[in-house]
Amino acid sequence: MPTSLPLLPGSVIDDRPAMLGVLGGGQLGRMFVHAAQSLGYETVVLDPDRHSPAGRISHHFIEADYRDADALRELAARALAVTTEFENVPAESLAELALKRPVAPAAEAVAIAQDRIREKAHFTRCAERSGVAPAPYAAIEREADLAAVPDALLPGILKAARLGYDGKGQARVTTRGELAAAWQGMGSVACVLEQLLPLACECSVIVARGRDGQIVHLPVQRNLHRNGILAATEVYDGNLPAATAEQARAATIRIAQELDYVGVLCVEYFVLQDGRLVVNEMAPRPHNSGHYTVDACDASQFDLQVRALAGLPLVQPRQHSAAIMLNLLGDLWLDGAGGLRSLPWSQVLALPGAHLHLYGKTEARAGRKMGHLTFTAPDAASVRERSLAAAALLGIEAF
Ligand code: ADP
Ligand code: MG
Repeated sequence: MPTSLPLLPGSVIDDRPAMLGVLGGGQLGRMFVHAAQSLGYETVVLDPDRHSPAGRISHHFIEADYRDADALRELAARALAVTTEFENVPAESLAELALKRPVAPAAEAVAIAQDRIREKAHFTRCAERSGVAPAPYAAIEREADLAAVPDALLPGILKAARLGYDGKGQARVTTRGELAAAWQGMGSVACVLEQLLPLACECSVIVARGRDGQIVHLPVQRNLHRNGILAATEVYDGNLPAATAEQARAATIRIAQELDYVGVLCVEYFVLQDGRLVVNEMAPRPHNSGHYTVDACDASQFDLQVRALAGLPLVQPRQHSAAIMLNLLGDLWLDGAGGLRSLPWSQVLALPGAHLHLYGKTEARAGRKMGHLTFTAPDAASVRERSLAAAALLGIEAF
């Protein structure tokens, strides 16, 4: 039976509530499932890991590789529309699913976001109108490209064009010798070399765009990274200069429109010490820096993902509370002696405006995202005070 959009909440097919599908069973998929289920949809998750956070709570779970043809057939048979929560899901799998069901985002947009070379080319095109360009960079696809690198790109960061995340697949290089060694160390795969920029801070913007081109945005988020991993996101009036925030918002809308994007898109930016804004990368899905929207906005990034997928109206969200999100990495649970420690949740949850989200992962590992903690408050000063108190209790370095 073909899908007719909008797929209204409460639709019943063969005696069951309509089902939405998601490729990937991580925490982003889990929060998509929460949002879909609260509108009454059933859900189906496809992930290779039988203990995946989203798989654990979904109505239906398909344990399979993302390329498994039978599994993709089953997903398309069960789900009336399919999204992804994992940016490295094979674009061919999305294209395959799109032959049978509405899929958002489209395979082509995901393929561009998966490849830093194509992604930067897209940003450069959009910069002609938005004025927000990527860092100076060179694509390195073969040995000869190393010699052609301009001196101005050193010191720089060499990044694998594909499959990097949380600072993985990256190396800081100062000399041409280090550059050549780092490229070989990465297996001589396609890379980009980016100039190392003097950052004042980082920010990101999440937009949602419907099939009809309607677009809404979430507030501009200021992000603190530690060791290449997001540590904290702060969202309140004055978190960034107003002109910078407006520039980032406008640039993100252009990036989404030029892709003819459907779904939720996050674009990350650098704010340089001289105040300039530089576009870094995009994620074709909800983003870690948008988790605060679940508790601090009247529509979360996951609500928007469900609406965009199902063809429901997108309404401009409103942030009702100042918010700070702290990522809870596995490190917090490790006692340094090979054991695990328990965390003082009773004290943390006694702080006003604390919203704890744990993803149901049973094994804490260094750098692994186990959950997040969002604080909401009426103003920036009190949300900072509460989240710093929680950080001290949990052993998270102050920010
Ligand atoms: P990932 O896909 O791992 O998130 P990013 O390209 O976002 O990769 O890099 C991770 C972090 O490394 C960034 O959030 C930023 O803190 C730092 N970084 C990346 N590129 C640069 C750069 N060109 N100059 C300075 N810092 C950078
Ligand atoms: Mg990043």
